[in-house]
Amino acid sequence: MTTSTADLYALSERYYLPVYRPRRIVLDHGRGARIWDRDGREYIDFGAGIAVNALGHAHPALIAALTEQAGKLWHTSNVFVSEPPLRLAEQLVGASRFAEKVFFCNSGAEANEAAIKLARKWATAQGREPERRVILSFRGSFHGRTLAAVTATAQPKYHEGFEPLPPGFRYSDFNDLAAAESAMAAGDVCAVLVEPVQGEGGVTPATGDFLHGLRALCDRHGALLILDEIQCGMGRTGHLFACHGYGVTPDVVTLAKALGSGFPIGAMLVGAKAADAMQFGAHGTTFGGNPLAAAVAGAALRELSSPALLANVERQAQTIRTELAALDAELGLFADIRGRGLMLGAQLREAHAGKAGEILDRCVEHGLLTLQAGPDVLRFVPALNINDVDVAEGLARLRAALTAFVRG
Ligand SMILES: *Cc1c(COP(=O)(O)O)cnc(C)c1O
Repeated sequence: MTTSTADLYALSERYYLPVYRPRRIVLDHGRGARIWDRDGREYIDFGAGIAVNALGHAHPALIAALTEQAGKLWHTSNVFVSEPPLRLAEQLVGASRFAEKVFFCNSGAEANEAAIKLARKWATAQGREPERRVILSFRGSFHGRTLAAVTATAQPKYHEGFEPLPPGFRYSDFNDLAAAESAMAAGDVCAVLVEPVQGEGGVTPATGDFLHGLRALCDRHGALLILDEIQCGMGRTGHLFACHGYGVTPDVVTLAKALGSGFPIGAMLVGAKAADAMQFGAHGTTFGGNPLAAAVAGAALRELSSPALLANVERQAQTIRTELAALDAELGLFADIRGRGLMLGAQLREAHAGKAGEILDRCVEHGLLTLQAGPDVLRFVPALNINDVDVAEGLARLRAALTAFVRG
């Protein structure tokens, strides 16, 4: 007996809390940058599970790591140690060029939650009263959905109805260093939390001056610089860590999404300044550093560190940018094309404002899966190892979809 796609979709409406509005296809299996629905239709995947599947679908090294670990040990809790998370911590500390300590968790929001708690503990240890433990973040940011992370997320639409929000958060304009300077002038900020490239907020890179300026402000006012690299990290910008591309040394970096390349895992990396802030009993999570997740992430990190893969990011990004510019010249769709590496955004012109969702529907009809970043920005975050053929095919389908959209 087979269930129809429409029936399966109806099940999602019947049983899921309606916080998502998935497109009306049911995905079944994938390989590399291609994915098939249960009716056998094939799609090019420029969304990669929201910048998660950085090595595409069904990568042999990840399958091998997962299945090998699956036959050995799944879970130990943090009452004991096992080798996969220890090796992963060692790899991450070395690759980061700044970190001394690692805390593993299961998602991006948890990694940011850990970073917020760490900043508060660090400030407490310095004898700062609660009013002087403010976290500064930026408009347009996205830091996750737990109550503290969502409060740091400086977008009202994510806050509405969840008040009272926890106190001790302040917002400033992204890429406005003078505004950040006044926001920190009182000396009551204990940490600045910022995405080197804002993802959900519209795929907007920080300027070099802004990030370097924040580093200097943090040093001047005794605050930690926390970089949320949950979306822009793990090779996506063409550098294993986005901060490497900027030449900025953070105090804390949070990771998730591509860290497990499809297996849930998050991490907080901590540099020398705050490495001692959290002591025995200060924080924890049952599944953090789970051997299965760590084995997969370790294999993913080896692949993502490869210079050839990082070079591919730059090359494919150039191809996509060139074609987006050509499409704009022909169809007059975009007000701006921006991003870093394979994290690209195309801002729709005023005439098409609010139409990103509609365009994504046209893309699905033409065999392309991609994302939006708000109602006005198309977002392209394909697997970092995507090849020339799949990029060319994806762009051809994008062209067909945009042409259909413009013709109405
Ligand atoms: C996705 C994302 C998060 C939240 O991660 P979850 O795993 O969904 O909790 C936080 N910060 C950034 C920049 C993200 O893109």
